[in-house]
Amino acid sequence: MFNVKEYYHHDEIIELTQKLISIPSHKEVLHREKEVAEFIYDYCGSHGLEVKLQEVVGQRKNVLSYLRGSGIGNSLMLNGHTDTITPHRMIIDPFNESVHNGFVWGRGAADMKGGLACMIMTMIAFKRAGVVPDGDIIFAGVIGEEGKSEGTEHLINAGIRADAAIVGEPSNYDYAVGHRGLEWFDVIFKGRASHSGSLEDSVNAIEKAAEFIYRAKRDLYPKIRQREDEFMGVSLMNIGIIEGGLGQSTVADQCTVKIDRRYIPGETVASVLQEYKDILESMQEDDPAMEATIIKSAENDTVMNHPPLVTPVTEPIVHAVKTSIREVIKRDPKITLGRGWTDAALLKVYGKMPTVVFGPGDIRLSHTEAERIAIKDLINTVEIYARIIDNFCIKDKIMDAAPMDLLEE
Ligand SMILES: [Zn+2]
Repeated sequence: MFNVKEYYHHDEIIELTQKLISIPSHKEVLHREKEVAEFIYDYCGSHGLEVKLQEVVGQRKNVLSYLRGSGIGNSLMLNGHTDTITPHRMIIDPFNESVHNGFVWGRGAADMKGGLACMIMTMIAFKRAGVVPDGDIIFAGVIGEEGKSEGTEHLINAGIRADAAIVGEPSNYDYAVGHRGLEWFDVIFKGRASHSGSLEDSVNAIEKAAEFIYRAKRDLYPKIRQREDEFMGVSLMNIGIIEGGLGQSTVADQCTVKIDRRYIPGETVASVLQEYKDILESMQEDDPAMEATIIKSAENDTVMNHPPLVTPVTEPIVHAVKTSIREVIKRDPKITLGRGWTDAALLKVYGKMPTVVFGPGDIRLSHTEAERIAIKDLINTVEIYARIIDNFCIKDKIMDAAPMDLLEE
């Protein structure tokens, strides 16, 4: 394994992370990820990597970059999202904070522009060193992961594949091989408005919604909490938003309950949906005039579902990630349980690529009012990514090393 640190300067990874942060790419930005994708396209191209843009939605683009391998070993996809959440309520400058106290600061530092910078810098270091991996390395900077995941969906539909993938979400030097699936539902209750001084013939949609929530807590919560997966924890639901009513003196003619449902293997979108329908049916039996429907939320209404991630620990990519983290930080990484949903699930379920979530930074700092990433995490992660490429793509090495290590699992 060549010494990757000799092929880039520390300042380069800091500057690249800062530059990526300085280009806003949240949902209130016109064309959202367009500018950051075009920057990455130019940056990778100017460092001799093959590059490509994919228009996904309007002018919002995925950016792809390739480090071509010799083709005798495994290929690997390095996948990261180029969008961030909005910078509201931040207590630092979200896009132009200085580097200080050992951190690069700003919206997206941890989630996940630091991760993008590490992936790009690793590929550039290989290119500069003249080291040709045994298989192709494909960097995919994808749009919309904080929303509908249109970018990874597009990537999969375009047939872009590798023998395995890494999703570079912050993982604190541990890694995830599983996480819950995610669907959002709207339960919409219809009422009949009237003046609150004359209630005859009125139907209060808010009261119907309250009854639904009461029955969900009474009948569904206990059942859901009994379902558990060893890599994901228990199945979960959260009522995140309730919207309804026209004014205090008016009977509410509509009320919507917005549900976030985190489900595990053994459950499906159809089965979790049916459980809500069962509650609505039981309500209708007691109150035949009640009108309610349940739909997938518009924010989540995509062709692909958002299923759980399940990558078997016996996959060579899991071995390569584990070994590479251990080689750099000198401790055994843990499998992270119960992390949030990521694009890794789409890559695994629809793209059939064994996928591991591993990236720089502290997940607890992502989406925060003072989001930041430690410079040492960026530097260590470039080295870990380089070793993952080395450990995974070299076929002989995998075949030699895997069986012994797998016995430890
Ligand atoms: Zn993320």
